[in-house]
Amino acid sequence: MDRTVDADIVIVGGGICGLATALALHRKRIKSLVLERSENLRATGAAIIVHANGWRALDQLGIGSTLRQTAIQIQGGRFISLNEAEPMEFPFGVDQELRCLKRTDLMKAMADNLPAGTIRTNCQVLSIELDPLTRSPQLLLSNGSILQAKVVIGCDGVNSAIANMFGLHRTKLLLFSTCVARGFTNFPNGHEFGSEFAMMSRDQVQLGRIPVSDKLVYWFVTRPRTSKDSTIWKDPVLIRQSLIESMKGFPEGAVEIIRNCKLSFLHLTELKYRAPWDLVFNKFRKGTVTIAGDAMHATGPFIAQGGSASIEDALVLARCLAQKKAEETAEINIAEAEEAFDQYVKERKMRNFWLSLHSFLVGKKLDTKSSIVRFIILAIMGILFRDPDWHSRYHCGVL
Ligand SMILES: Cc1cc2nc3c(=O)[nH]c(=O)nc-3n(C[C@H](O)[C@H](O)[C@H](O)COP(=O)(O)OP(=O)(O)OC[C@H]3O[C@@H](n4cnc5c(N)ncnc54)[C@H](O)[C@@H]3O)c2cc1C
Repeated sequence: MDRTVDADIVIVGGGICGLATALALHRKRIKSLVLERSENLRATGAAIIVHANGWRALDQLGIGSTLRQTAIQIQGGRFISLNEAEPMEFPFGVDQELRCLKRTDLMKAMADNLPAGTIRTNCQVLSIELDPLTRSPQLLLSNGSILQAKVVIGCDGVNSAIANMFGLHRTKLLLFSTCVARGFTNFPNGHEFGSEFAMMSRDQVQLGRIPVSDKLVYWFVTRPRTSKDSTIWKDPVLIRQSLIESMKGFPEGAVEIIRNCKLSFLHLTELKYRAPWDLVFNKFRKGTVTIAGDAMHATGPFIAQGGSASIEDALVLARCLAQKKAEETAEINIAEAEEAFDQYVKERKMRNFWLSLHSFLVGKKLDTKSSIVRFIILAIMGILFRDPDWHSRYHCGVL
C-alpha cells in the first residue's frame, strides 16, 4: 500500500462545512487539504435558506457581501392553512436578515476564496484509525492508499465515515416518516411573490415557497414517504408527478410552480437525523480527530439551520485552532490540536443540541397523525422555544 504524508490538517468532505472550515482556516493563515469523494463539488438540493446567524458567520468568512448580491432579503411571510373550507392566513414578520441562496453560489464563493490545490476531488475516504504507535490519524482511501495526517476534521455529511470513530454509526441514524422534494422554478418575466416567504399546508403535505431573486423561486414540498419513493427518486419527471398528486387541494398557482420547475434541480430526499440526545454525551474528539456539520449533528431541515450551524462549526473550529497555535508561522502540534478540539466541542455542543432538538420536535409534529401527540409537542415547544426565532439571534463570534 502507498503511504503519503500530505498535510497537517485534512478535512474530509468538500460540502458546505468542509469548504467553510478550509476557508476559515485559510483566513487564519492555516493551510488545510480538503478530500472530496465526488468528481466535482456537489450542490445537491437547489438552495439553502440562510438565517441571520448564518449571515453573521458568512460575514466573518469574508463572503457575506458577495453572496448578498445574489439573494434578495425576505421581508415577511405567511402561513396558509388549507385544512378548512376557506384558506386561513397567518402573516408573520421577519425582523432579522433572511435570504435564500443558490447552493452553487455558496459553494463557489467559498471555493473561489481558497488557495489553489486546497481541494482534492475524486478522493473518497473509506475509514480512519489512529496509528497505534504515533497516535496520528491514518485515512484509508478508496484507491487503496493510506494518507497520514496530523489532524483530521470529518465534514463528510450525514453518512460520515469519520463519525464511526465516535460510535456514531450510520445504522444509528433515524428516519422521519416525511420526505422532502426541493427545486427551482424560473419566471423569465419576473414572479409576483415580491420578497415574501410563504408556507402552505394541507394535512401532512406542506409547500414552502421563497424567492431567491426577482425571477427565481426556491420551493420545497414535505410529504409522507411512500413505498414508490425508492423507485422514483432518480427520475425527476416521476418525482414531479408524485408531488402534483400529493398536492390535491392546493391552489392552482402553487401546483403550477411545481409543474414548471427546472427538472435538473429537482431532488427528493429522505430525512435522516441523529437523535438530539446522541449529541449530549459524546466527546467528539479522539486524538486529533473531530467532526463537524451534518457528520456531527444531522437534524433534518425543519428549522433550516443545518447549513448555518455547519458554517458556525467551521468558524469556531478555526478560531480554536488559531488560538492554540503557539505562533502564526509554526505548524500545529498534537497537544495544541487536542486542546483546540476540546474547546471547539465545548463551544458547539449545546448550541447544536438545542438546534437539533427544535428541528426534531418540528419534524415529529409534522410526522404524527395524532392530534394529542401534536398538542404535546406544541406544549413542549411553547415551553422550550418561546421565542421561535431564538436560533437566528445567535452570534458565534468573530473569527
Ligand atoms: C431537504 C433538506 C433541506 C435543507 N434545507 C436547509 C436550509 O434551508 N438551510 C440550512 O441551513 N440547512 C438546510 N439543510 C441542511 C444542510 O443542507 C446541511 O446541514 C448541510 O448541507 C451540511 O453540510 P455538510 O458539509 O456537513 O454535509 P454535506 O453537505 O452532506 O457535505 C458532505 C460532503 O462530504 C462528501 N463526502 C461524504 N463522504 C465522504 C468520504 N467518505 N470521503 C470524501 N468525501 C466524502 C460528500 O460528497 C459531500 O460533498 C437541509 C437539508 C435537507 C436534507
